[in-house]
Amino acid sequence: MEYWKEEIETLSRPALEQLQVRRLQETLARASHSPFYKRMFAKKGIDAGSVRSLDDLKTLPFTTKDDLRNNYPYGFAAIPLKDCVRLHSSSGTTGNPTVVLHSRRDIDEWAEQVARCMYMVGLRDTDVFQNTSGYGMFTGGLGFQYGAERLGALTVPAAAGNTKRQIKFIKDFGTTCLHIIPSYAMRLAEVMHEEGIDSHETRLRVLCIGAEPHSEEQRRRIEQMLGVKAYNCFGMSEMNGPGVAFECTEQNGLHIWEDYVVAEIVDPHTLEPVVDGEVGELVLTTINREAMPLLRYRTRDLTRFLPGSCPCGRTHRRLSRFQGRSDDMIILKGVNLFPVQIETILMQFPELGGNYFITLETVGASDEMLVEVELSELFTDDYSVLQALARDVSRRLRDELLLTPRLKLVARGSLPVQEGKAVRVKDLRKII
Ligand code: ADP
Ligand code: ZN
Repeated sequence: MEYWKEEIETLSRPALEQLQVRRLQETLARASHSPFYKRMFAKKGIDAGSVRSLDDLKTLPFTTKDDLRNNYPYGFAAIPLKDCVRLHSSSGTTGNPTVVLHSRRDIDEWAEQVARCMYMVGLRDTDVFQNTSGYGMFTGGLGFQYGAERLGALTVPAAAGNTKRQIKFIKDFGTTCLHIIPSYAMRLAEVMHEEGIDSHETRLRVLCIGAEPHSEEQRRRIEQMLGVKAYNCFGMSEMNGPGVAFECTEQNGLHIWEDYVVAEIVDPHTLEPVVDGEVGELVLTTINREAMPLLRYRTRDLTRFLPGSCPCGRTHRRLSRFQGRSDDMIILKGVNLFPVQIETILMQFPELGGNYFITLETVGASDEMLVEVELSELFTDDYSVLQALARDVSRRLRDELLLTPRLKLVARGSLPVQEGKAVRVKDLRKII
């Protein structure tokens, strides 16, 4: 087994926890210089020096996205701005955007973190890495760029969009690895197919897919369509960006790097820790960042810890595939469900394509769900075949969701193609 930094990746649990406590104490000391935490500590009578264990951390208040917004732009800076070298900001559709600051050392550590992930899925300095993320404020751009350079790969900073150009680069430069959003990977595979390019004849072999929730079925489909291995990568700007947690070649859970963060999973309503192994909201504390430490940050992302150790030998715990964010949950007629559950069913039908859209609407006095899904290239115009297919899909959806959505099979290419992260749900319900 090969590792990027064997000692840290396979550190024994007791030693890893010791390291976490030491870094946590350093982090708290640093955090007390930031205007936000200075105020919080004073108000709540918190003595940063009194935290001596990971259990002690659980007595501290949470930090939320609203706190970041309300203290925009520099209210969380724990070091002077002259010692910061980068700022990432997320657009923020409501209210103020959020800002994350990085020192030179933070950027360096982040590059290490991403290089570690890439090495873990078999990438080496002989690989050609093409990044289809937007550069600029989106952390998937520069985050992967620095990581891939640290790894020593030949990097192709293609940036987002222009699918035909992406395909040309893949062919001309001998790209072996792509970083790509899953919904865009499906689109890329379709365009390649339309152009008559057999992806198996390119050098492409690994995809790093992330930035949005996706199902196991979608991953398998991407792998088949492009003849690659696709690995789930998870990150968010508040925790640097990509590289927070990443699948290893086992493809069974994402290792969360516990020398970078302390991870907790809490019940999003009671905010108490869930029983080990149950699904809840991921809460993260940075322990390896200078410019802007975040303590017990509520990510809103729902996942669980996988039990047991990973055959790859890494000791950092694994998180299950993400279900989505707590705010993505659809509540319809008292039933709670996530778009990914619908995707899981749809992707089991080879006759269906990868693009789907969910509309919630009020029909008469009741709330209904409409699922529109594109047909794949196995498309038939035989009406009775289509009807049978629609019946089958509806039945499987009903069995999974315990409610019956209206289903509409639509022609390939007729649903909107989205730039960036896919938006899958529109809620048009009226409050009656
Ligand atoms: P970035 O993608 O640059 O990190 P954001 O910080 O805006 O941009 O988005 C982070 C959010 O994206 C996460 O909180 C999570 O909801 C979602 N996300 C990222 N990676 C994954 C993944 N692999 N699976 C599911 N959701 C993901
Ligand atoms: Zn592993």
